[in-house]
Amino acid sequence: MVEAVTVTEVVAAVFFAHGCVLLCQRAPDVPYPLQWEFPGGKIEPGESPQQALRRELEEELGIAVTIGTELWCTEFSYPDGKSYRLHFYVVESWCDTPYPRAGIIQVAWVPVTALEHYNMLEGDREFCLVLPWLLNPNAVDVDVPFMRIALLEAQRAYAEGEVPVGAVLTRDNRIIARGRNAVERAGDATFHAEMQALRQASQLLGRRLESCTLYVTLEPCPMCAGAIVWARIPRLVYGAPDSRAGACGTLYNIVQDERLNHRCSVRSGLLAEESSALLRQFFQQLRDKDRGVDSRTTTE
Ligand SMILES: [Zn+2]
Repeated sequence: MVEAVTVTEVVAAVFFAHGCVLLCQRAPDVPYPLQWEFPGGKIEPGESPQQALRRELEEELGIAVTIGTELWCTEFSYPDGKSYRLHFYVVESWCDTPYPRAGIIQVAWVPVTALEHYNMLEGDREFCLVLPWLLNPNAVDVDVPFMRIALLEAQRAYAEGEVPVGAVLTRDNRIIARGRNAVERAGDATFHAEMQALRQASQLLGRRLESCTLYVTLEPCPMCAGAIVWARIPRLVYGAPDSRAGACGTLYNIVQDERLNHRCSVRSGLLAEESSALLRQFFQQLRDKDRGVDSRTTTE
């Protein structure tokens, strides 16, 4: 079920001033109304990301800017199948005060520590999870933002009617692949989140994923643990333990079995409560549906 998808290239600007970043709120009459985002937009054919960003900022905020380095790049797909590659660039300098123009109703300087309170577009929300670490890599536990992104993938699986499990694969602290459980949609028992991420990464790097870290919201099963060994993944971080199928410490410990030709280091229990809560909510909703209870009338 690996389909050819068109990826929309998007570029976004990160303005820093006094511990704050600049956000825009989208107008009520555009797609994703009233959501907040970093200023920017689609890269048109023939444009470089920098050219696109300069054009967008002129159109959206009426300012001319000097673009600095690319701070972060990530690729993800919404449950509706649309895929995006987002490039975030630091803005080095700008003239004049940004003011809202096309498609924007207001701009706000938001403290980095308050970003979680803003209702944001998904790609921007992911970036906000990584931003504290990007700004202060020595003081922030890098596993946390990547596990939070894996949890977003699990939520996307939930929205697709799948058991909510998500995975992210990184190399040099950059996301190179991701996956979410797709067993029902694919009609294929092997489409676990980890397998999706490993397959995606292998298209890029080949069959050995030797310098990668795999983040997954639920302890891998025997199949995925086996795949982790065969792909020679050196490091695994997982969230909730799985008492029914966990093969990385709970029922078995395949990834650290001395008899196999490869072992990986394991960090377990990271954001386990968030991961378990999502799974509980999913199965509760299934049971309610079976009993004909309208899930909107129940409280988790
Ligand atoms: Zn599995």
